[in-house]
Amino acid sequence: MENGDRKPFDTQDWRNILAASVTDPEKLQPFFDGDFKTLRTVTDRYPMRINPYYLSLIRSPDDPLGKQAIPDVRELEDPLTEADPLAEEPLSPVPGLIHRYPDRVVFLVSSACAMYCRYCMRKRNIPSDGRAHRDERNIENGIRYISDTPEVRDVILSGGDPLLLSTDRLAGILKQIRAIGHVDIIRIHTRVPCTLPFRITERLVAELKKHHPLYINTHFNHPDEITPEAALACSRLADAGIPLGCQTVLLKGVNDTPQVMAGLMRKLVKTRVRPYYIHHPDPVAGTSHFRPPLETGFNVMRALRGHVSGICVPHYMVDLPGGKGKMPVLPTKIRSVSDKSMTLENYLGEICEYGF
Ligand SMILES: *Cc1c(COP(=O)(O)O)cnc(C)c1O
Ligand code: SF4
Repeated sequence: MENGDRKPFDTQDWRNILAASVTDPEKLQPFFDGDFKTLRTVTDRYPMRINPYYLSLIRSPDDPLGKQAIPDVRELEDPLTEADPLAEEPLSPVPGLIHRYPDRVVFLVSSACAMYCRYCMRKRNIPSDGRAHRDERNIENGIRYISDTPEVRDVILSGGDPLLLSTDRLAGILKQIRAIGHVDIIRIHTRVPCTLPFRITERLVAELKKHHPLYINTHFNHPDEITPEAALACSRLADAGIPLGCQTVLLKGVNDTPQVMAGLMRKLVKTRVRPYYIHHPDPVAGTSHFRPPLETGFNVMRALRGHVSGICVPHYMVDLPGGKGKMPVLPTKIRSVSDKSMTLENYLGEICEYGF
């Protein structure tokens, strides 16, 4: 299917689009050339969900969007075996809530997503039947933990995708968190503006804006994902006063060149989304075929800093194993340091001197 053949999705309800998702690899046969039957062994272990909107953006299974969505036998051949290298579970005081840093928690309120990304760092949590379910008891216990823990100033709703909850359910959770006096900010981490932009309805936005200060970090990995529909979803959120960030994952064959990444960053800021992090992929079982060498990320960062607007330049992050925390990493530019000055290389590769 070509981009030009896309159906006008905007007349449909997002729930209907989601319900029409392709979850059986064989059903990809009418859309692309290839043998998809063998991919059942992969989806038995790691479910697939490609909704018709995202499917309409894929030109071939090997293109940057196809790679993110369509299963690959290499997911089962991965020598890595750790499902939770960041020790999220040992760092969960109650199931579904990760408390790693002093002042903030990640609260997993939904296990479903509008698409199951093949490189997902929480692949272990994707429900085996691929269907939305939520554990109400975990949500209740999570809210109680936040309420009982005065150090928590920042609550990050994540999952899965929090925006796959119904608007009423999400509004209920936001209201309960907002009622906790020591919580300063709420963040929502969602891929829906990219994978199912029709979910960003006027009604959802009207609910979200009642809970300011609310921040949203979305997740785009390739410029082709920023369609007019995605841009409209982002505008609606930005118009509601919600600052938008983007967490991009550096992925082999998807966005691992300076050209693609610089193009993505420029397009994001045009869409009023401020690039926040480029994540080096975590060593999660079933995702190794997406992991580039660190030098690939350095190349990308060298192409950004100084060459494009500062607001297009996110931090490049590695997440240390065992839950030791995220660290920004930069290609080293300092050649030498003395008491009085340092020698460094600027963005054009020129050697410069900086005195103190
Ligand atoms: C990434 C992460 C956060 C948020 O980190 P920021 O750098 O503040 O965006 C919080 N808790 C956990 C467990 C995380 O993995
Ligand atoms: S949307 Fe996020 S949580 Fe869901 S599968 Fe993709 S990367 Fe994982």
